Amino acid sequence: MFISLEGIDGSGKSTQARLLADHLESLGHTVLRTREPGGSPGAEAIRALLVEGDPGRWSPVTELLLYNAARRDNLERRIEPALARGDWVVTDRWTDSTRVYQSTRGGDRASVDALQDLVIGREPDLTIVVDMDPAAALARGLARPGQEDRFEQLGVEFQRTVRDGYAALVKDYPDRVRIVDGDADEETVAARIQALLP
Ligand code: C5P
Repeated sequence: MFISLEGIDGSGKSTQARLLADHLESLGHTVLRTREPGGSPGAEAIRALLVEGDPGRWSPVTELLLYNAARRDNLERRIEPALARGDWVVTDRWTDSTRVYQSTRGGDRASVDALQDLVIGREPDLTIVVDMDPAAALARGLARPGQEDRFEQLGVEFQRTVRDGYAALVKDYPDRVRIVDGDADEETVAARIQALLP
């Protein structure tokens, strides 16, 4: 079973990915928890290219290719072998992040989908969007030193666009994508997520 967690910055999706993996392990499953960009050594090296240095150094198309190069490496090296063993995989972001973020940055959605179908071709069995109002996420981020800078760099309006992008995904993938209200304490949100497990 392959599960992705998605959401805007400060939504708590990374915490929820950890809590979900812990819950699945407590049920006796072997779980690979991964994140992206990153996960495998090669993908972590690509992550450094994306997050370090001048944020404007990559064009939108180059950025799209780098995210997918990282994703492909993580898929081949870690995710596919884990799924083949029958393990569960919980990933903090997957193809939907690119649908939402890279499309928002000027890539057209049809090209993003065509590229990802070609080079990734693996969608999660279940995608959980941890939904959060950007203003509430920002307030939460301010309570966690270090997080507020990144959020403010992108701006609340950008986060709103991303949130709307996630909401639209439910219409595109009704069988796979579920939205969970993330505006509650972490145990409550974790319980909401666990209720969606098959
Ligand atoms: O997952 P995390 O919260 O660490 O992501 C940090 C940032 O990486 C996001 O706010 C977003 O700006 C960027 N990102 C992106 N495109 C992706 C994944 C992440 O622009 N596909």
